[in-house]
Amino acid sequence: MKAAVVTGFHTPLEIEERTVPDPGPNQVLVRIEASGLCHTDIHAANGDWPVKPAPPFIPGHEGVGIVESAGASVTRVKPGDRVAVPWLGSACGECEYCLTGWETLCESQQNTGYSIDGGWAEYVLADGRYVVKVPEGVDPFEAAPLTCAGVTTYKAVKVSGARPSDLVAIFGIGGLGHLALQYAQIAGAQVVAVDLIDEKLDMARELGAAYTLNAREKDPAEYIQGLGGADTAIALAVNPKSFEQAYRSLKRGGTLVLVGLPADNNMNLPIFETVLNGIKVVGSIVGTRVDLQEVFELHAAGKTSVHYHTRKLDEVNDAIRDVENGRVDARLVFDMS
Ligand code: NAD
Ligand code: ZN
Ligand code: ZN
Repeated sequence: MKAAVVTGFHTPLEIEERTVPDPGPNQVLVRIEASGLCHTDIHAANGDWPVKPAPPFIPGHEGVGIVESAGASVTRVKPGDRVAVPWLGSACGECEYCLTGWETLCESQQNTGYSIDGGWAEYVLADGRYVVKVPEGVDPFEAAPLTCAGVTTYKAVKVSGARPSDLVAIFGIGGLGHLALQYAQIAGAQVVAVDLIDEKLDMARELGAAYTLNAREKDPAEYIQGLGGADTAIALAVNPKSFEQAYRSLKRGGTLVLVGLPADNNMNLPIFETVLNGIKVVGSIVGTRVDLQEVFELHAAGKTSVHYHTRKLDEVNDAIRDVENGRVDARLVFDMS
């Protein structure tokens, strides 16, 4: 099978021929149809984060495809089913987090495309207990971005507690941001969208954003305070300065949700203002299998729209460069057919 492989940090990925793996008792072999490029894959290939993957590895945690074969213990899916293979590759199923609906915090989790090989390949092995069925009527190319960008921002909006009449500021209208703004609107909130690139802001307006702002032109915090301040700010841009702007855009009692994971790992938070203004700061990591199921249900019901362009896996290094340079209006999805 063909696979895109990270052989070392900050070096171009290599397209390799690998043998198709056999599923173990709890595993499924998935023939990938569509596989998204998340900015996390770029962080992985660059070794940007404190916990690093070990090259060689195959990135990709937005893989969608058909179960080709299943191990003897697999009960939730069967050959022929269309499934998504998300970032949460597996968890222990027994710890306090797994048992209380927070499997995404499990300390024994494996992460697809990071600690185990992912979906930038013609086939991927996945834990049959952690794949999520893609419902009839959801296109695989739309399911792919929903598998990380969708579930992550759906969860971020959930943990923000956004309600009708709220103003939600979304910082970074990329793969994640274009879906974040839709989930905030589904929750009934008005959205102010912030990015550095005008085309992304055009997309935000098309998707219903009430206000848009180019952070190169105006200080977003000042602008959003002029609107009365945001009840929630969701930080998705790969830059700590943008996290600080998101913080400063909040009204009293507001919530800052940290989702983006810039290589530069530190932001400045003023203690005094956080205390006196009763600000909440919360980190949010992907979503559970049930969250992803809900994301697919919303999409099947016609409530979200996914913007994507397709590329061939051979074009992986150009695709990464285009995302890094902001030349993609939302998501790139590798067409594996
Ligand atoms: P992306 O490249 O598609 O989008 C990032 C957007 O931010 C782009 O539109 C870019 O123009 C914009 N941007 C960059 N600098 C900015 C600034 N200073 N101000 C405003 N906008 C700015 O990336 P993505 O795939 O949406 O991922 C975003 C981040 O979220 C990455 O760091 C990724 O690793 C992280 N992520 C986190 C989780 C999680 O579970 N917490 C899940 C998936 C991705
Ligand atoms: Zn991702
Ligand atoms: Zn666990």
